[in-house]
Amino acid sequence: MTKVLNNWEDGHWIGQTLEVENGVCALPARTLAGELAYTDEVKAATDHLYALVADFIPKFEWPAYAPLVHAINKLKVEKNAVILAHNYMTPDIYALVGDYKGDSLGLAIEATKTDAEIIVQAGVHFMAETSKILCPDKKVLIPSLDAGCSLASSITGDDMRLIKQRYPGIPIVTYVNATAEVKAETDICCTSSNAVQVVESLGVPKVIMVPDEFLAKNVANMTGVEIIAWHGRCEVHARFDAEDVRDMRAANPGVVVLAHPECPPDVVLESDFTGSTKAMSDYVSNNKPKNVILLTECSMSDNVAMANPDVDFVRPCNLCPHMKRITLQNIYDCLVNEEHEVKVPKRIAKKARRAVQRMIDLPAPGKKGHFDPKAGHKDIRVI
Ligand code: SF4
Repeated sequence: MTKVLNNWEDGHWIGQTLEVENGVCALPARTLAGELAYTDEVKAATDHLYALVADFIPKFEWPAYAPLVHAINKLKVEKNAVILAHNYMTPDIYALVGDYKGDSLGLAIEATKTDAEIIVQAGVHFMAETSKILCPDKKVLIPSLDAGCSLASSITGDDMRLIKQRYPGIPIVTYVNATAEVKAETDICCTSSNAVQVVESLGVPKVIMVPDEFLAKNVANMTGVEIIAWHGRCEVHARFDAEDVRDMRAANPGVVVLAHPECPPDVVLESDFTGSTKAMSDYVSNNKPKNVILLTECSMSDNVAMANPDVDFVRPCNLCPHMKRITLQNIYDCLVNEEHEVKVPKRIAKKARRAVQRMIDLPAPGKKGHFDPKAGHKDIRVI
């Protein structure tokens, strides 16, 4: 068993150190205080979980994680709460405390089916808003109010109203990675799985797509509908470029490259398969490539790797700084204090729900959920 050493500096308490079998593990003061001590009870209750994250958390660090994991899982039962864990969460959150896992819309739809009274969104703010829009009677909490998104921040409700004035009569399709206020001003929402299908479902020759310029360009390459794009970008996916992909292929002969459609079109052109996070995960599970690269956020590779231990992942790591604001510690704090409740004004929620529901009511996208890397290239207007 580990031994806890109390640390003092100039008469002040600065934390504790664990003596473990193979060394020491320094812990912040809070981690071992009171309820969060690494006790025999915590050890017994969590030892079996370590195997799930053994590839990502060194054994000597486990005593820093286990008390939080144990406390969060107990709190969920006591408070009738669930945690929605996005695919970009770190493995400790995704595998050890997440109740539902997936992309933002999948999580929000799961939330509508649960009897839980509290939903903790382990993801970014627009995702929590989507959960609140679809579950107006539940208490939706986000562990960090700083968990924003470069893409969602690129456009406001005022921008939407100006677009409508400037392009009257042209329907607006809004990617779900947008604020509730922006969704409320839109005709229909889309995800990266169903964007082509949603655009074509409107039966019009021209649509405006916001906020992701690259998703709009990738959709334009897959449809005869004329697309006008907004200039928003995901700072994670925009960083990949075609030369990176060629370099990675040269360094890893035979590797299969999967890209997210928020990547620039020349990256999609260089990839073997392009689809949503779910489509990428399904591709790996169904095809079991020997070597694979996922051109998306870092933690996605970790989480898909957990379910596919026989596949080798090459990791060109682009971290999302917003997703990484969610930690076990702030999930715990948010559950204890029931803090950072996400609220959407009723008037906005009603209009936004209509746009999201219109998309949900469409049939499943089938093949149209995939982007053909060889679909050619169109120049489109970006506003
Ligand atoms: S990965 Fe991109 S779209 Fe997703 S939260 Fe981060 S910045 Fe926003």
